[in-house]
Amino acid sequence: MESITKQEISPIFFSVDKNRRLPHDDAESNPMIQSLIKPVGRMFFLQRCGIALESAHAGEFSHPACHTAPARVFHSDTFLHVSGGWHDAGDYGRYVVPACKAIADLLLAFRAAPEAFGDDWGIPESGNGVADVLDEARFELEWLLRMQRDDGGVYHKVTCAYFPDMVAPQQERAELFVFPVSTAATGDFSAVMAMAYPLYESIDRAFAKKCLRASVNAYEFLKHAKPLPFHNPSGVVTGEYGDESDADERYFAACALYQATGQSYYLSDASALYRNGRSADLGWADVGGYGNAMLLFGGRACEDDILVGRIRADLLATAERLSERTEQSPYGISIDEFLWGSNMYLLNNAMTLLLANDAQDTERYVAAARAHLNYILGGNPSGICYVTGFGGRSPQHPHHRPSAAAGAAMPGMLVGGPDQYLHDLTAKTLLSGKPAAERYIDSVESYSTNEVAVYWNSVLLYVLARLSRLGA
Ligand SMILES: [Zn+2]
Repeated sequence: MESITKQEISPIFFSVDKNRRLPHDDAESNPMIQSLIKPVGRMFFLQRCGIALESAHAGEFSHPACHTAPARVFHSDTFLHVSGGWHDAGDYGRYVVPACKAIADLLLAFRAAPEAFGDDWGIPESGNGVADVLDEARFELEWLLRMQRDDGGVYHKVTCAYFPDMVAPQQERAELFVFPVSTAATGDFSAVMAMAYPLYESIDRAFAKKCLRASVNAYEFLKHAKPLPFHNPSGVVTGEYGDESDADERYFAACALYQATGQSYYLSDASALYRNGRSADLGWADVGGYGNAMLLFGGRACEDDILVGRIRADLLATAERLSERTEQSPYGISIDEFLWGSNMYLLNNAMTLLLANDAQDTERYVAAARAHLNYILGGNPSGICYVTGFGGRSPQHPHHRPSAAAGAAMPGMLVGGPDQYLHDLTAKTLLSGKPAAERYIDSVESYSTNEVAVYWNSVLLYVLARLSRLGA
């Protein structure tokens, strides 16, 4: 890694191994990027839970219906029917908070570049006249609707108490639990349901209205609820997705509901929340950036010019910083700390750059975003395309139970990438002493570098869809 110098890097794309062919080598053509959209989008379909995946659509990843048993509300004798939705990651848990980041990415991608999405993903709904990305998002939205309580609050997650062995989905048969309502889950839910409303209105008006009603109910619950952060109860070891601050989720919901309804009530709330503490991130825990995107690009001209002016100025300043870091980086990316899931962080930055380009056409931002995608697709110190099934070399052993059970890597999945803090034993044992950007290993045991997640694939899909249309 240290041998790579800035001089060796071309302004837009670079390859560590100059002889190796990258997926985008054909003059960085749009069709090459476009060709990745379908497999990356199909990953969501292959993660579907609660229904049988037929071999005609899922091939070697077909399976009978999984996780269909009613789930026990934790510490109670109440059972709920909450089947459906996507398995979150390498495990079979279904978590509302990261699911909403994934939905937000997909819906923003469709809004910004509808022509990038076909009706031909090879999923059961293909050919129905609706872009498959919206069919796929709807599958998750229908599950989310089941996770809402009558009073508007939204349950945080449904999982077993423990992670299963590396078994196929239908082989995880331990008892399912629904875990308590959190205000982060409720805020995120309210936001994505409001985002869904205008997009589905012309497709299925009744469904769109249901989404809007659910969004408003969740919002009213939030208005009267103190923060309810989620913590795993003792004895439960599945993903926590804990978040101590719900102000950004409330803000995202207010922005999305303002866009959906035009009501000043929501805009006043959004303004007040923005003044009290800004968040511009696009992570599952910090979703203020999605609220900003809704106000800037949601389709309804925002009536608060001062608020919009501040958000826009902040976005452009952030994009300038990210561009500068990208141009100075030996890897052509804007991060220099490789956290668990580093590939998501750098793609979130690429998304921020593309949103900034929407606010003010700037080739520098687009070039920086392209450089991030180049890194993901193989222009990185490990020389590996971090999307399974693509590039000269890609992960063969992702930490992903359906892949392990099938004995083959499911294609189209983005793995987490280098984790400089070596959070799992395999990484610790085999990667200590390596430079931070090379702390990645293609091992099924390495959940901190080689797992996958729907909310990582979603931001990749956003970046692919945008760059496929921006003359890459
Ligand atoms: Zn399942």
